[in-house]
Amino acid sequence: MAYIEYRYRITSTGKSSAQLGPCEICGKYTSEVFYQVEERKYLYNGKTGWTQKNCRDYFGHKECLIEKRRLRANAIPEHA
Ligand SMILES: [Zn+2]
Repeated sequence: MAYIEYRYRITSTGKSSAQLGPCEICGKYTSEVFYQVEERKYLYNGKTGWTQKNCRDYFGHKECLIEKRRLRANAIPEHA
């Protein structure tokens, strides 16, 4: 059985909620909005790669984004 693995990348937008809107997770104002990209590992023809398909990106507090990450332990079994 294969498990879905995710990886994350966080970058600062350099802008505040005044420009980009509140944190998407907690809905509160933040002076620095971060952007998190989620990528899912896939296996195809014996090769592994990363895709953003069926993944969710978020804008918000860095702490909120990190909390929103899926834990490896909670990964859903993947049926090929
Ligand atoms: Zn937040």
